[in-house]
Amino acid sequence: MQDCIFCKIVRGELPSARVFEDESVFAFDDIHPVAPAHVIIVPKKHFATLMDIGKSDAGISEKIVNAVQQVAKIKAIDKRGFRTVINTGDEGGQVVQHLHVHVFGGRRLKFELE
Ligand code: AMP
Ligand code: ZN
Repeated sequence: MQDCIFCKIVRGELPSARVFEDESVFAFDDIHPVAPAHVIIVPKKHFATLMDIGKSDAGISEKIVNAVQQVAKIKAIDKRGFRTVINTGDEGGQVVQHLHVHVFGGRRLKFELE
């Protein structure tokens, strides 16, 4: 999608601090981190939300899970523990309309929905 900020980051048209990349996914530091490690993982292909992944795109789920593991190792939170979050849609709190996974870590995380 032309005007999507995460598509622009994937294409290198907006700056980002890259953490991990393969042929299918791109991971970068969140611009407003809420934990010492806060990384955003996006599929390079534009999907608006988790609900837009179809059967023919099933491989992307494995790519995303692999990226979570790689990011956790790169940020040295793989053994300490970390949290992954996918906000979906309006009531899910999704602000950027390009599917993304948050990876939070580097401190003890409380469980808060608000
Ligand atoms: P969400 O509420 O799940 O849609 O989260 C969107 C996330 O994207 C927020 O944590 C923002 O801080 C982050 N974000 C927005 N723009 C950028 C950007 N240009 N570079 C890095 N992270 C960004
Ligand atoms: Zn996009």
